Amino acid sequence: PPKENPRVVIDAHGLPYLDPKLPVKKRVADLLSRMSPAEKAGQMTQAERNALKSQGDIATYDLGSLLSGGGSVPTPNTPEAWAKMVDAYQLRAQATRFQIPLIYGVDAVHGHNNVIGSTIMPHNIGIGAGRDPKLAERTGAVTADEVRATGIPWDFAPCLCVTRDERWGRSYESYGEDPALVESMETVIQGMQGSASGKDLHRNDKVLATAKHYVGDGGTEFGSSTTGSYTIDQGVTKVTRQELEAVHLAPFEEAVKRGVGTVMPSYSSLDILGDDQGPVKMHADAEMINGVLKDRMGFEGFVISDWQAIDQIPGDYASDVRTSINAGLDMIMVPTAYQDFTKTLQDEVTAGRISQARIDDAVTRILTQKFRLGLFEKPYADTADIDQVGSAGHRAVAREAAAKSQVLLKNDGGVLPLKASQKVYVAGSNADNIGNQAGGWTVSWQGSSGRITTGTTILEAMKKDATDAASVTYSKDASASTDGYDVGVVVVGETPYAEGIGDVGNGNDLELTAADKAAIDKVCAAMKCAVLVVSGRPQLIGDRLGGIDALVASWLPGTEGDGVADVLYGKRAFTGQLPVTWPKSESQLPINVGDATYDPQFPYGWGLTTLKKAPTGGELTLGALAVAAHIAEKAGLGKSEAGKAIVDQARLLVQQKAGGKPTAAVSKPFADADHLLLTGDLTGAVAQLRTAYRAAQR
Ligand code: BGC
Repeated sequence: PPKENPRVVIDAHGLPYLDPKLPVKKRVADLLSRMSPAEKAGQMTQAERNALKSQGDIATYDLGSLLSGGGSVPTPNTPEAWAKMVDAYQLRAQATRFQIPLIYGVDAVHGHNNVIGSTIMPHNIGIGAGRDPKLAERTGAVTADEVRATGIPWDFAPCLCVTRDERWGRSYESYGEDPALVESMETVIQGMQGSASGKDLHRNDKVLATAKHYVGDGGTEFGSSTTGSYTIDQGVTKVTRQELEAVHLAPFEEAVKRGVGTVMPSYSSLDILGDDQGPVKMHADAEMINGVLKDRMGFEGFVISDWQAIDQIPGDYASDVRTSINAGLDMIMVPTAYQDFTKTLQDEVTAGRISQARIDDAVTRILTQKFRLGLFEKPYADTADIDQVGSAGHRAVAREAAAKSQVLLKNDGGVLPLKASQKVYVAGSNADNIGNQAGGWTVSWQGSSGRITTGTTILEAMKKDATDAASVTYSKDASASTDGYDVGVVVVGETPYAEGIGDVGNGNDLELTAADKAAIDKVCAAMKCAVLVVSGRPQLIGDRLGGIDALVASWLPGTEGDGVADVLYGKRAFTGQLPVTWPKSESQLPINVGDATYDPQFPYGWGLTTLKKAPTGGELTLGALAVAAHIAEKAGLGKSEAGKAIVDQARLLVQQKAGGKPTAAVSKPFADADHLLLTGDLTGAVAQLRTAYRAAQR
């Protein structure tokens, strides 16, 4: 396909919408005024590329959008093949009367993850642990650059779910359990889109972002979904109106302020306690979509449904269509029923059950983003950056993100960092497995174990950091003799999964596998040991903690195992903090900061560091920090680096005092402090830490 759309130049005088010098608003209005009902219905339709009966259907049905569902990849799965594939579809759209370009979308939720060889970032849970908004923004920028370089202008990310129960299989798509933490990571939207005004979207390294899943996806009640084995995913979120606002809506309000281009509703239902409406499917929730998102928050982008989600609305297909569109959905991810959908939509309009104004509003919203993305001028891939997919520069960002995501939960006797000269016995299921450390949404929808893409495993990275690679021995099941080693590193955890209940092989209970437990027991009995948990959510360590010297929550660090080795060998300090509460037992679930009874194994916000030396002097020093915090807050430094540094010092003091076993009396104020810090209340945060410190002293 040609690199530029030749008709732009020829027709610019005759057709105002093709004139890039006109304001977007005028171009949209002009184009809309020319469009037929079928063309409008087509714009509101998103089909899955594999569902197309023929590529000609793009023009026949005037389709507005296509997507690659997780793992719907071209052959060969290379960046170049992706660009070629998208261009071929785009060429079909150029055969329509008004040459309205397609907007192609993918789930690039931790890098351009469908593409083999792309840079895979830690999943969101690890980014949340990193607590570094600037780094989150850079990861977004890297992802956007890789995605757009393959001709794709739209990414169904970030997930702004606030995970409240880690039995939910999508917990790792969440930045954490605290809405303030989720909000602080939304810099990722700027990384992806550029300026909140949308003026950068036309660039060849920016994409349209999607805030998902609106709203309450992370709050579903265990057992509330009855779809097959999905007992929590796509279930019901039961909340008071106050909780809905503070926990689940707040991150979306922030996303709208940041100019997020699209919003995707959640498969789940919302049951607001106190009004006697009962659960409402989010895709049918006019109050939340039209009322709260569009009217109250002033969201000007467009709302894209989730995959086949309108089919879950009670009633026949016509009712699904009118209920969702009238609730405020602008484009439907059908994803196979595009013929049915475009026809039904038009029939509903003809019958007066959907207003013409609603259709025009939806199409206006969609076209506005297409114009902003510059797709009318450049419908085809600008592959100038295609060699950046998986580039060393991008991998360096992912490596830094992986390092910062590592949370040191316990470190008795200073087992970590390792010394390069040490003889290390490595064991466990996840030490040497790119697929497992990348998790779901990698190359295929569910992800898979093994060498599925380019990257470095934790074991490979450790061997690079050791003085002598041969001094790092790997015995997955710890069957090799344990004699004579300085230290053991047992890397355990989950196998990949996406959506649903999580790691099915492990059951539904955050339990480690028997093999991993046995490896921990054997290695930790024989030598000083560090256990790394590579998983999408906390795993239950329970009483085993007593026999473990050092414990690290590694989350799903992505392709750059080097980042993990960086902190293991002390090239970088551990600085990560728990983005979710680490439970002692399954009976505690769900457990969250702010709970009346709060006695986790490690509280929200916990995370030791290996470099920064906490000041000594106990109560006195904390007193001084309290004064400093108060002054800083008065000076408006509440959310600044300086303010954070003060609270960090206090945090380290408490952790030092409490060591590897914080009690309930320590955990509760400790977790609350972290929340207060994120909201900018430094005085409150330090006051809570003083309480925690006193409790740790007792
Ligand atoms: C997921 C969405 C995703 C969509 C498209 C759905 O199953 O819930 O998060 O964007 O598929 O792949």
